[in-house]
Formats: sequence, structure tokens, C-alpha cells
Amino acid sequence: MRNILVVEDSPLVLKILEHLFRKESALQPIFCASLGEAQVMLESSASLFFAAIVDLNLPDAPDGEIVDLVMAYQLPCIVLSGSYNEQRRDQMLLKGVVDYVLKESQHSYEYAFRLLHRLESNSQVKILIAEDSEATRHYIRNVLTPHRYQIIDACDGDEALRILKEQPDIDLLLVDHSMPGLSGFDLVKLLRQKMKRHELIILGLSADTKGSLSAMFIKHGADDFLRKPFCPEELNCRVMSTLERRDLMLALKQAAQFDALTGLNNRRAFYQHGQLLFQQAKAGGRDLSVAMLDLDFFKRINDEHGHASGDAALIAFARAFAGAFPDALLGRLGGEEFAMLSQQDAAALSETLDQLRAQCASLKYALGAPPLSFSAGIFQGAPDDLENALHQADMRLYQAKHQGRGRNCWQ
Ligand code: GH3
Ligand code: MG
Ligand code: MG
Ligand code: MG
Repeated sequence: MRNILVVEDSPLVLKILEHLFRKESALQPIFCASLGEAQVMLESSASLFFAAIVDLNLPDAPDGEIVDLVMAYQLPCIVLSGSYNEQRRDQMLLKGVVDYVLKESQHSYEYAFRLLHRLESNSQVKILIAEDSEATRHYIRNVLTPHRYQIIDACDGDEALRILKEQPDIDLLLVDHSMPGLSGFDLVKLLRQKMKRHELIILGLSADTKGSLSAMFIKHGADDFLRKPFCPEELNCRVMSTLERRDLMLALKQAAQFDALTGLNNRRAFYQHGQLLFQQAKAGGRDLSVAMLDLDFFKRINDEHGHASGDAALIAFARAFAGAFPDALLGRLGGEEFAMLSQQDAAALSETLDQLRAQCASLKYALGAPPLSFSAGIFQGAPDDLENALHQADMRLYQAKHQGRGRNCWQ
């Protein structure tokens, strides 16, 4: 839970903010209605706050004095203002506030919340600035700093390339076009040969007025482009939106690959990776083993102890399963049915499955629920096709069920 200091005196704005905060389970607002109140609050508890949202016009501080107070405690500060004033805005950005947001519409309040969310994750985000002009590097750094990113500088394309090799966890590259040595453009072309968009976001920069440059940058794999000089908000908005896009893409990839309940590969991902392993084993002339597992009398757990207990059983089983076979490809094919692909032979798999079975018998997953048991069928052979191997394993699983459950069949 993050505490957010909200300094605002307008009842209407407070109502809107309260409403929005109610939807945010991870953010806890603490409201103050004046500079005086905020002063007392910060003197006693500044370290408990994560960020502040402040109104520029307060009864005892009509001229944005609240910003100096909040900034003195080094809290990220989002400014809300009732009216747009260019000079005031520049002044605030110069002081290092996160952003200057107009109390205009629902969207501007939502934007302020987007900023809060990004502030939470930004401290994990690494940005590399590749720019030969020291003044521009300095400007960009100053503009990005209030957003809490980790920032690294490179003064030309070659240095940027070296840093990216040393630090593969860099999330975003801001790259100037015209630099001595390797140009920004060539750097993008080089990087995109091996790094996908979700691995590295690239924003091109250039002072060149040629209209086609932005399109060229983007066609060669940059995610966005800014023409210099740019205003601070433009840079921050573009960085923020490309990061949000990247995070959304990663979340989609995650959801498409993993089963939401157990975190194991879902059926599709299991087949996809499985087919690849089959091809590799075939090319290398190696055997592969395939196992199908099914929990015994699982329906009874649902019927007698509730669906939540059934879910807890699936989660506990999946965790034990993954612990027992750290090197195998595992998946939840559906319901209470799991599959495994391994380079171990059937006898070794059967032995480890017996150990897993003993472990499952003593798993505590729900109060009063029966011990977990499963049956398994194992097939070992020259890799022909995954579907067929799974079918063979499934037939053996059927035999194990038939013979009384709680056992493996592999011959
Ligand atoms: P057997 O020993 O023959 O395998 O019997 P069983 O009861 O385990 O098998 P059955 O196929 O009759 O029942 C499986 C049950 O699993 C039925 C279904 O409602 C339940 N199930 C499937 N997916 C989930 C899930 O995600 N959560 C929970 N709690 N139950 C699930
Ligand atoms: Mg340059
Ligand atoms: Mg079952
Ligand atoms: Mg079943």
C-alpha cells in the first residue's frame, strides 16, 4: 500500500479524487486542505508518503507555495491546476514536478493516476540516453529525473552499443540521429536485428527538419520519434506511453502462455514448446519421455469442500510438480490434467513421480480436505510426433486409473 498526500481544498475536486482513489486498492490517499495542514503532516510523517498530488491555489498558499514544501521533502509532486498559465507551467516544470495537470476533465484526473502508477514501476526502468550534445543529455536527464527512472548516458552510438551489451536489462533507448561514428539511425538498424520491441524500446531524436527522418526511424524499428527541441511533457508522455504499450504487450504474452491459476504452461504453450523439443530430440537422435498426470477423485474435493478448495489443490499440486521436475517441460492441459516432457527415461520419471506422490499425500491445501492423489501414464520412445506420444501416455494413464489409481503405468 502506497500513501499519497493529497493537498486540495475544493470539495468538488476532492469528491472526484476520493472516487478515483476508491478504485485503487494499492493507493491510500491522505487528504490535507491547506498548506498549513500539509506542513504539519510532512513534519511528522514525510517518510510514509510515496508521492503527492497538490493544488496550486490553496487558501493559505495562493501561488503554488505548496510545491516548494513538497519538493523540499523530495516527494514526487503532481500539480493540479484550475487554469492553464504557460509561465506558471514552465516555472513548475523547472522546479522538477512530475507533471502539471489541468483539472479539466475526467481524462486529466485519470492521467494523474496513470502517472502515479508509472512512478511505482519507473524505479525499475532503465533508460539509456545516446546523444553527443552534453547540453541535450543534461536537459533530457533533468526532464526524466522527476519520474524516478534509472538513467544512463552515452555520448555516441558506439558507447551506447557497448553499454547495451553490458547491461541487457536496459528498457528504453533514447537515441539522437546525428552523432559522430555510428549514427542513431545505424544503431537502430543494428539493434533491431536482434532485439525485439518488447526487449528494447527505441525513441529516435533529431534536430533535422527533414520530414522523412521520423518515418525512416520508425520504419527501421524505432517505436517513436521526437523532433528537437521538444518540451518536457512531450518527452515524458512519449516515454510513458511506449512503456505502457510494452508492459501491455508483456502482460498479453504472459496471459497467452501461462495458465492463470497454476502459472504452468497452458495447453497451447505446452504443445508449442513440446513440438520444438521433439524436433530437437529427433535431430539429435535422443529418446524423449512423455507423462500424463490426472488428479484422483478430484470432483469430490470440489463437491465436498468447495470449488475454492479444488483451486487450492490445483495450485499446491502444480507447485510440488514444478519442484519435483525442475528440468522438464510441464503444462496444465486442462481441468486437473497435467503433462510433462522430459529427457529422463521412463523408470527415472516413475521413481520421481512416486516421490511426488508421497509429498502430495501430506500437502496441506485446504482445511479438512482429503490427501491429494494422482495417477500417471508414461511413454518413452524415439520422438515421432508429440500428439501420438501424448496419446500413448494417456492410454497408460487410463490403465493406472483402471488398476486402482494412485500409481504410474509405464510398460
Ligand atoms: P478421476 O479419478 O477418474 O480422474 O476422477 P475425477 O473426479 O478426478 O475426474 P472428473 O473428470 O470426474 O472430474 C474433474 C473435475 O475437475 C470436474 C471439474 O469440475 C473440475 N475442475 C476442472 N477445472 C477446474 C478448476 O480450474 N478448478 C476447480 N476447482 N475444479 C476444476
Ligand atoms: Mg547529435
Ligand atoms: Mg481426475
Ligand atoms: Mg480428468
